[in-house]
Amino acid sequence: MQFEVTILGSNGAIPAYDRHPSSQILNYCGNLFLIDCGEGTQFRMNKFGIKRGHLDHIFISHLHGDHYFGLVGLLTSFNLNWREHPLNIYGPPALEEIINTQFKHSLTKLKFEIHFHPVLADIPRIILDNSQMTVETIVLKHRLPTTGFIFREKKNLRKILPEKIQQYAIPFEVINDIKNGADFTDENGRLIANDELTIAPPKPRSYAYCSDTIYTESYLEQINGIDLLYHEATFSEEHAERANETFHSTARQAASIAKAAKVERLIIGHFSARYADLSILLEQSRTVFPETYLAEEGNTFAIDSEVLLQKA
Ligand SMILES: [Zn+2]
Repeated sequence: MQFEVTILGSNGAIPAYDRHPSSQILNYCGNLFLIDCGEGTQFRMNKFGIKRGHLDHIFISHLHGDHYFGLVGLLTSFNLNWREHPLNIYGPPALEEIINTQFKHSLTKLKFEIHFHPVLADIPRIILDNSQMTVETIVLKHRLPTTGFIFREKKNLRKILPEKIQQYAIPFEVINDIKNGADFTDENGRLIANDELTIAPPKPRSYAYCSDTIYTESYLEQINGIDLLYHEATFSEEHAERANETFHSTARQAASIAKAAKVERLIIGHFSARYADLSILLEQSRTVFPETYLAEEGNTFAIDSEVLLQKA
């Protein structure tokens, strides 16, 4: 089951060194979720071959421009490409007004519906719950109301062994009950324990996106044990004071969060334009948390054992 994230943009406020503002695509079994939409996101999607027809959910962490200035351009292209199916946008309440104002003054009438879901940054909330996954917010501490997002795969059903279906002539109607853990009684009244018929499902996987935030331990418990964590790491230790003033984190702080939350792997991003070479950030993070990777644009990370699937 495909569950992976592709980095479209990984820089902080000012694009530099061919690094672009924040944006990521999460792919869950072919269903796409866009997380933040900095300027130029649609160009990045084209470059990395993202099929935008499969994108139905967009999540915006906060209203600093480097996290959403690409949104209206993307929506306009959807419209010009005759998108018809609805699009869900989750973000700060004022985002709806921003979108509507831009379309009002360009006399644009969309051919598709936008379902806007206002997201408050007060307490963690479940903002999406479907048959495959939940998305919950993380309350971050930044200069504006800001949320991160946790994508959690739902508990999978047990896997029924095909040879047992044959061996015990298990009828189709009870297959789902068995996948849910039921035992089976055959036609002779013999009880076959579920353990003999099935194997345990794989552990549900999870991805957390921690957008802009000052160092805080307030969400540690919520991200405890996450498989793959993205955490901003705008600055190196040398600029820790600047990180504090601007409500951002250092690479070392991001690593401390990953370590304390016992996550499996960490991706760091939202790099300041002052760093041409990102190796200092990677080194400082790896000193604390060795399983750190840079959010290099075009790279795809599996939320699984093989962390780096594909390099751009
Ligand atoms: Zn910000």
